[in-house]
Amino acid sequence: MRVGFGYDIHRLVPGRKLLLGGIEIPSPVGEEGFSDGDVLIHAVIDALLGPADLGDIGSSFPPGDPEFAGISSVLLLQRTKAMIAGRGFSAVSVDCTVVLEAPKILPYVPGIKASLAACLCVDADRVSVKGKTKEGLDAVGAREAVEAYAVILLKEPGE
Ligand code: MG
Repeated sequence: MRVGFGYDIHRLVPGRKLLLGGIEIPSPVGEEGFSDGDVLIHAVIDALLGPADLGDIGSSFPPGDPEFAGISSVLLLQRTKAMIAGRGFSAVSVDCTVVLEAPKILPYVPGIKASLAACLCVDADRVSVKGKTKEGLDAVGAREAVEAYAVILLKEPGE
C-alpha cells in the first residue's frame, strides 16, 4: 500500500460554478480557475499522482495549455486514474476535507461521494467527504476562497 496526500485552494468569484467532486453546489460564487476549478478533484488528483511517482496536477495538466481550458475536472480525474492504472496502481480508499465557509456541504456529501467513487471505481463507502469552516479566519473564513485536502490509500502493483 502507498499513501497519497493532496491539497488545493481556489479563489471564489461571482460568475463561476462552485464544483466539488464533480457536483455543482448552489452558491453565488464559484471557483476561479483555468479548468472548471473543482478544488476537491484537484486535491484528489494530487493525492493519486504523488504515490505513483507521477508528479503533480500541474505537470500532467499544465494551466495555460489550451487543451485544458475550462475542462471538466471529472475528465482530468478519469485521465489520472488511467495514468496510475498504467503503472499498476489503484485506489483503495479516499478521505477528504473541504474547507468552505458557506454554504454547508452536508446535503451534497452523498452526491459528492458517489461521484468520486464512480470516477475511481471504488464503493462509495470507501470515499469520505467532510466539510469544515475556518471559523471566520483568513481568506477562506472571509468567503474569498475554498480549500480541499485528500488522503488516498493506493494499492501497489501485484498487491
Ligand atoms: Mg486547482
